[in-house]
Parts: sequence; structure tokens; C-alpha cells
Amino acid sequence: MNATAAQMLGWNAAELIGKPLAPLLYLPSDPAEPVSDPLCLSAAVRDGAVHRVQNDVFTRKSGDSFPVHYVTSPIREQDRPVGAVVVFQDITARKQLECLQQAQLSISHILAQTGALEDAIPQLLRVIGEMGPWDMTLFWHKEPVNERLACEGAWIRPSCRWDEFATICRSSEFPPGMDFPGIVWSTKLPLWIPDALTDARFTRAPTAARLGIHGACLIPIRTGSVIHGVLELYSDKPRSSDRQLIHILTDTGMKIGQFIDRAQTGTALRATHRMTQNLLASLPGAIFLCSRDLRIQYANTLAHHYFADAGASLLGRPLFECLALSEVAAQQLIKEWATLNADSPHQTPERECQVASRLYRYRFFPVATPETAQYQIGMVLWDVTDDKHLQDQLIQSEKLTSLGTMVSGMAHEINNPAQAILSMAELIQEEKDPAMIKEFASDIVGYARHVSNVVRDFSGYARSAGGDGATEIDVAERLMEAVKMARRGPHFGYVDVVTRFDAPTFLRARKGEIDQVFVNLINNATQAMNGTGRLTLGAAQDGGWIDVTISDTGPGIPASVRPRIFDPFFTTKAPGKGTGLGLSIVHKIVTRHGGTITVDSIDGQGTTFRLRFPALSQ
Ligand code: ADP
Repeated sequence: MNATAAQMLGWNAAELIGKPLAPLLYLPSDPAEPVSDPLCLSAAVRDGAVHRVQNDVFTRKSGDSFPVHYVTSPIREQDRPVGAVVVFQDITARKQLECLQQAQLSISHILAQTGALEDAIPQLLRVIGEMGPWDMTLFWHKEPVNERLACEGAWIRPSCRWDEFATICRSSEFPPGMDFPGIVWSTKLPLWIPDALTDARFTRAPTAARLGIHGACLIPIRTGSVIHGVLELYSDKPRSSDRQLIHILTDTGMKIGQFIDRAQTGTALRATHRMTQNLLASLPGAIFLCSRDLRIQYANTLAHHYFADAGASLLGRPLFECLALSEVAAQQLIKEWATLNADSPHQTPERECQVASRLYRYRFFPVATPETAQYQIGMVLWDVTDDKHLQDQLIQSEKLTSLGTMVSGMAHEINNPAQAILSMAELIQEEKDPAMIKEFASDIVGYARHVSNVVRDFSGYARSAGGDGATEIDVAERLMEAVKMARRGPHFGYVDVVTRFDAPTFLRARKGEIDQVFVNLINNATQAMNGTGRLTLGAAQDGGWIDVTISDTGPGIPASVRPRIFDPFFTTKAPGKGTGLGLSIVHKIVTRHGGTITVDSIDGQGTTFRLRFPALSQ
């Protein structure tokens, strides 16, 4: 036996020489069943081979045991085995490392399995305690509100009676810098205290002294420089610092820190998600989010209220089926939907659609998703049935008011022919010559036709605004009809009319409303020109838009007045000459059709109103 072997076993070589080794190296775990072939000596001698044993336990003279790895090689004399050499190695350190690695694996496993920190703490504290020479582990959590460390869990080795210390910890709170946990919070570094009882910073020393608590180790639980808490470990003996253990515990602290961070992020995400859901649910519009194949992926409360049977879910269903749209309306929506990803996805116009007996204003909007390059599509709908009703009434009453003005100014349109009809009828009564009678009669027919035309035009124009649906209309034709109406009014005088119409321009709109727009703008223009000047009407197509211009050579609109001309009841005209409603109604109707209206005016030279409507086709 060499000196190292003797030293490892705690004997003098002299004490062992000549003695049977097996009873000294192996503690008899069961005396009735001795170790079968200690050190594989018999085997080596018998078979002449080298034997390796990875995991065995030897006992020292003191009675302590330690793990060993040994190799037994036979000694031969003239090819005959006569003995063996045993070379052994103390593998305590390797075993400890394996143990620590195993514990680390368990910790990762626990963290991966649990969702909430509270559930993980008891198991974590036990595994951490058992991974080193610890008899107690405590978890200090940083309170988010009052910036204190509070003890939220304790594990005590069953053989220790340290509950009193755990109770004291549970009722303590430490600010940064106070006691060992507070110091670790401040420094963000691990702290190893060979004997806590000799450290003046230990505020819990009296209880610890009574219970025999000595060695201490504290580990920050952190992610980066953010501290989430502190692990505190105690043993019943003073312990000298173990760099490897500190390293492994620090790593564990970071793992727990990352877990807390993830859990907090998850909580924050869930809170944000809940808030978004609540927000969407409480918006005063119905909202749909759909996949590219038009299936509903999200529908808020109002969407369900409008379009789902009570208690039924709209999710996963095709959008158009849920909206129960007419074929034409669905086709129109699909067309808009298909163009949404084009150049300017954010500028989708507001449109209206009818679902059952309700009228909705809607708008598409793109929803960018990080997962796919393509937009998902959102749709928001407002129920405007009641608004529409009010607006229709307003439009209609404005129309009647302006008709009233026009009718009073054009009384002669009916009066003059009526007078002529009357005179000719009187003449016919006296007249004997059949040829003359025929001539008067044909004049009477002409005048009567004129009167009937006038009445027809006006009654057509006065028809209810809400009564007609959207149809395909020829813009140039409607402008000329509006000129015809305005001509019958009191202001037209000797105004020249110039037209600049491109190739046919068509809109999808309500005819009555578009007529009202054109008549109002032309009436304003002729009124401004006061009987002389040039009225220029233009209609042209520009890509997906129809541009309409109505220009006059009147005095222009003063810059100070311009910002207010679309306000309801704003007028610069004398009482009885204007209501101030014309342009506000024009604006309402144009935007209702997805269009825009702008005005250019130069003082003393004239005014141009420009309208843009979405074209029927490009
Ligand atoms: P009203 O014609 O009854 O006054 P409108 O809303 O149609 O009401 O017009 C508001 C105001 O805008 C008018 O009073 C007038 O001052 C100004 N305005 C509208 N069109 C023209 C125009 N072509 N030229 C000059 N001023 C105009």
C-alpha cells in the first residue's frame, strides 16, 4: 500500500499490511451477506483479466464512506496469476458534480412544467436544498408595490427543527441593504457567509443562534440587472466557500429569474390581450377580422348582436353568409375586398350596405400580422339606419325649401303659357275660320306641353330622396338635367353654359341625391353671377375616380368665408334668398357616396367646385 492509499483510507500503511482488506473497506450493510468478491481480487486472480469498477464505496478508518472508482489488475508469475494490484480513486468531487447537474436538470424540468411561480417554489426549494449541504432554503420575493423583499417559501430538512426561524422570516420584510437578503438585492451578487452567527449584519441572529444555524449562502434571482428575489440557504455547520457550488446556484438563480420574467411577460401579454378584447367589444361598431378566404376569425360583441342568432358564434363562418347580403352587394364587397391589398390599403372609403331591413355604413381596414406577409382584413360596420332616416328628412326638406325659392321665381314659366292658353281659348270661342281654330289649338297644345314638362321636371326633382336606391347614372346627363332645372329658376338670366364632358362617365349613386347636388351647386353659381357670366361644367374619369367640376365667373368666395361655407345654416345671402343649407347637404350627399368635395376660388374671377366620386368601373 502506498502512502496516498493509506492516507485516503485514514490508516497507517503498517496498520494494514497483512490484514484482510475487505472487512476494513466495506461496512457490513448486511452482516449475513458479506460482499461477494471484494475489490474483484478473486476474479482477477481466477481469470487473469483487468477488472474496472466505476461505482463503489469504501469506508475510512473513521467510519466515513466515500465513493471510489478502482481498477484491479492481476500479477502473474510464470504466466500464473498470484495476486492483484488495486488502483483506486476518490470520486467524491465527480459524484457531487453529477449530483449538482442532476439537480439543475430537475430545476429546469420543474420550471418547464409549472405555469405559476407559487406552484414551483416548494419543489424548487427542496431540490436546491438537497443539491448542497443545506438544511434550509428560503425564497425572498421582491414585492412589486412596496419595494421590499418578503419571504414566500421555506424548505427545512426533515431532521431539523427550524420552524421558528422560518416563522420569523415569513413575518420579516427587508428593504435594499438590510440583512443578508437586502445586501444581495443591493449588490446583485451572491454572498457566502461561512458562519452567519459571526456576522453583525444578520438581524435574525438571536433565533439562529438558539437553533444552531451557521453556514449561509445567498443567491440573487435576476434577469440581467433586474432583481426579482433572493434565495437564502442555511446549514447547521459553518461552511467554507465553495466556488463551484456558488457558480451552479447563481446559474439556478438566473434560471428562476428568467422564469419569473417570462411569467410576468405572459401576465402582461394576457392583460394586454384582455384589454384589447374589452376595447374591441365595447367599440360602438361591429368589427370582423377575416382570413383571406373571408372566414371570420374574430367578431366583437356588437357584430354578434347584429348578425348572429342568439348564443351562436360567428367564428369560422364565411363573412358574406353571416351578413346575408344580396348577390349584388356581396359582389361589390368582394371587389372592394380584393383591391384592398393594392397601393393604398389605408385609404378605403366608407360605403353603405343594406343587411335585412337595416342600413350599415362600413369600411375595410387591413390588419398587419407579423406571421404572414399578407394582410388579414378587418371590417367595421355602423348601423346608420336611424341616421339615414334623419338625413333623408333633412335632405328632403332642404330640397323643398330650395324648390320653393325656385318655384316662386319661375311662376312665369307656368303663368305665361297659362295666360296664352287662356287668351287663345277665348279667341277660339269667337273664331269661325276652321284653319285659324286649328292653328290656335296647335299653339294651345304647344303651351300645355311646356307647362306639363315644367311640372314633370319639378315633381321629378321633388321626389323623396330616400325613395330611390343606387343606380347607374350618367354624370353628363344629370348635369344637363340640373342646368335645365336651374334655368327655370329666378337667377339664371343670360348665363352661358359651356360643357367639357369626357367619354361617358358613370357613377353608381342615388339619382335624386346627385341631382340635388348638381342643382344646388349650379344654382349657387348662377346666383353668384347674377344673370351674366359663364357656367362651365366638366366630367372626366381619372383612374378609379369620376371628377366633376362646376365653375362660375362670379365674384368668388372671400377667403374669410371659405372655411365655413359647408357649415349648416351658413349663408351670406339676404334673408329669404338663401337658407345656408345647400352646401352642407351637398357635402353630406357626396361623402355618403364615398366621394369628396373641394373648392377653389379667386376673388373677382370666379369659383370652382370639384367633386370626386368612386367610378363604377376603371
Ligand atoms: P345658401 O346658398 O343658401 O346661402 P349654401 O350652403 O349653398 O347656402 O352656400 C353658403 C354660402 O357659400 C353662400 O351664402 C355663399 O356665400 C357661398 N357660396 C356658395 N357657392 C358660391 C359661389 N359659386 N360663388 C360665391 N359664393 C358662393
